Amino acid sequence: MSREALQKAFQLSSMLLVHKTYLSLTHAIIHYFKSLNGVEDVVAYEIFEGATAQDADSIRRFPISLDEDFRDNNSELLLNCITQSQGGVTRCEVEGIKWLFFDVAEKVKPRRIILIQGQVNEEDQTIVEGLYLVYSNQVALLDSKERDALTHLLNRQTLELTLNEIITFYRGKGLSRQLKNSWLAILDIDFFKKVNDEFGHLYGDEVLLLFAQLMEKVFRNTDFLFRYGGEEFIVILNNCDADGAHEVLERFRVAVEQYPFPSGRVTVSTGYNVVDATDSPAVLIEAADRALYYAKSNGRNRIKDAMSLEATTPVLSANKN
Ligand code: GH3
Ligand code: MG
Ligand code: MG
Repeated sequence: MSREALQKAFQLSSMLLVHKTYLSLTHAIIHYFKSLNGVEDVVAYEIFEGATAQDADSIRRFPISLDEDFRDNNSELLLNCITQSQGGVTRCEVEGIKWLFFDVAEKVKPRRIILIQGQVNEEDQTIVEGLYLVYSNQVALLDSKERDALTHLLNRQTLELTLNEIITFYRGKGLSRQLKNSWLAILDIDFFKKVNDEFGHLYGDEVLLLFAQLMEKVFRNTDFLFRYGGEEFIVILNNCDADGAHEVLERFRVAVEQYPFPSGRVTVSTGYNVVDATDSPAVLIEAADRALYYAKSNGRNRIKDAMSLEATTPVLSANKN
C-alpha cells in the first residue's frame, strides 16, 4: 500500500469508528464506496441463515430510503457468489459486469454483504480491503448491542431508535397523508407459555427461532424485524398502503398457522397501526398494543388494526409479563 493510500485508509477508518449504530455506519461506508472512481452502484445485504439457492427469501436488503421499491435485481448474483466466497473482499464478474464482493462472513450473524458494482482500481481496492477489517469488527460490536442473541433480529432498544428515524423521515417529507406509509405491527405468539410447559424451555427457544426465520421469509426485504420481548415480535412494514399492510400480515398469520413447528400448531395474534409522524414511538407502540389486546380477547389467531378500534376502547396492555 502506498503512503497516501495508507494515510487515506487510516482517515477513513477513524471516520467509520465514529458511527454508533449499524444503520449510520453502513450508510457511511456505502456513501464512501459510491464516491470511488468507476463505481456505478453499491447495495448492502443481510443474509440470514438458511439462505441457500432454494431459500432466497432470507436475503434482506439494507435500506437506503424508506420509500424504495422492495424488488431487487441482484439476488441471482448474490446466491452465486455467496456459495463461492469465504469472506473478505473479492472481485467477481457476471455477464461482463464487474463487482467487488465485500463479504463479512465471520463473527457476525446475519452475514453482511456489500456489492460494489463497477471497475474499481487496484489502489482503491486496497483501501476497501483495509476498511473491511474495521467495518467487520465494528459491525460485530454494534450487533451485540442492537440485536437479540437468539434470533439475531433487532432488539427492543433498537426499535425506538429506528422508529425515531422513520418519524424524522416522514416529517422531512411534510405531514400530508401519503398513499404509502410505514406500519408498525406487534406479533404475539398465542398460548406460548403452554409450549414451554409441555415441551420445555429449549423447545420453546427453537419455536422462537423458527418463528423469526418465518418472519425473514414472509416479510419484504425492506421491512424491519425486531424481537420485542419473550414471544413478542415487531415488524415495521415500509412503503405499503393500508390494503397491502393488511394483506401481508394476514399472509404471515396463515404462514405461522400452517408451519410444521416441532411442538405442533402455533398461532399468532397481531395488532398494528400506521406510523403517524406526529406521534411518538411510545404512542405508536401503545396503539398497536391496544389492537393486539383486542385480537387476543376476540379469539386469538387474528389481526386487528388500531385505526378501526373505537375511540372508547379502554387502554389496557396486552403485556402481562
Ligand atoms: P397469550 O396468548 O395471551 O399471548 O398467552 P401466552 O402464554 O403466549 O402469554 P404469556 O405472556 O402468559 O406467556 C409468555 C411466555 O413466554 C412466558 C415465558 O415463559 C415465555 N418466554 C418468554 N421469553 C422466552 C424465551 O426467551 N424462551 C422461551 N422458551 N420462553 C420464553
Ligand atoms: Mg403470547
Ligand atoms: Mg406476550
